[in-house]
Amino acid sequence: MFDAAAGGGAEVRLRDVRPGMPPVHILGRVVTAARRQITRRSDGGRRWLLSGLLSDGTATVRFTWWDPPTEDIPRGTVLRAVNVQVREFRGSPELSFGWQTRVAPASEKELPDLSNADFPRRVISDLEAGAEGFSLEARVLEVSPRTVAVGEESRVLYSGRLQDSSGILPFTAWVDFRLVAGEAVRILGGYIRTFRGRPSLSLDERSRLERIAGDGLPPTSSGGPPETQPIATVQARGGADDVQLEGLILGLVSPSGVVYRCPRCQRVLTKGLCREHGSVEGMPDLRARLVLDDGTGVATVNLGRVGTEALTGRGLTQYLERLKTQPDPAALEDELKEQLFGRRVRVRGGVRVDDFGVAVFPSEVESHAPDAAATVRELGRRLGGGLP
Ligand SMILES: [Zn+2]
Repeated sequence: MFDAAAGGGAEVRLRDVRPGMPPVHILGRVVTAARRQITRRSDGGRRWLLSGLLSDGTATVRFTWWDPPTEDIPRGTVLRAVNVQVREFRGSPELSFGWQTRVAPASEKELPDLSNADFPRRVISDLEAGAEGFSLEARVLEVSPRTVAVGEESRVLYSGRLQDSSGILPFTAWVDFRLVAGEAVRILGGYIRTFRGRPSLSLDERSRLERIAGDGLPPTSSGGPPETQPIATVQARGGADDVQLEGLILGLVSPSGVVYRCPRCQRVLTKGLCREHGSVEGMPDLRARLVLDDGTGVATVNLGRVGTEALTGRGLTQYLERLKTQPDPAALEDELKEQLFGRRVRVRGGVRVDDFGVAVFPSEVESHAPDAAATVRELGRRLGGGLP
């Protein structure tokens, strides 16, 4: 059962808990909680535990409650817990409620009253999945209402994109903040989750929004070019909506070059067959899937016809002409690889991160005239060669 009261000791905010610190006094809202039973290895006895996530607006932290009360602890319950051990779970702090811990229900009003100073200022390019308890100043690029089904009922939410000088971030607001495209805002109390492989800002009734003058933010029309980011950083963030990467082309993923697409679904044909529509009359197209290496990581850049033509300086018709004298598409792919290998390119666009790695879908691609000597030196270093 809950303790009637649990007091004593100064509260610690969740963003300040660290594994191994002395037992703490915390307050937090249950974000998720699941009950399960585990078997003790020593005697085969069964023991209940409740584990999930707690948030106080400054951070969300995992908790495990050993021998929890039998009554249900619904999502949204605010708990005060005293004498909580802080352990480590996969490199992050985890709160452990044991027999010495006193846990009592608390009210929403007892949660830390966060002032603006509690929300350190962050910029879009350094917000990773799971981030919360920050403030962000950005301009609303676009916003539109959308109706979604939540269980049986339908709700209106507002989604769009925000921009600061470091990048662009999609957002979803579950509350109508009456956002208008072009205005500058300061946002406190939002959190970052991953949506379709990219970071996205979620705003709800606990988020705060202030209108600001927005000096220093790029104007709506500029679409200001983001600074070049390391691939490893974008990968750690879990993707990005609009980002710039720069590196060397160290390979080409097959099939690249001339490909044939299904006229009905645009899929690339394999041996004249569409996965969905079988044998069809393929339409020729050009593409290049570049392996881009910037020294921090590797990304696959998916170039369509326009990007491939821009990069190689040859049009699809020229490639098709070439196929008449060199009918083997694999040989053509080798030629393309030879032409592009070691070239330094800068690409800008959306980046998706999934189990297959980092994929870039560029809206812009730019290649510098290769400085042969510098490229050879850099390649030598990257590939572990012994060049000076
Ligand atoms: Zn098809």
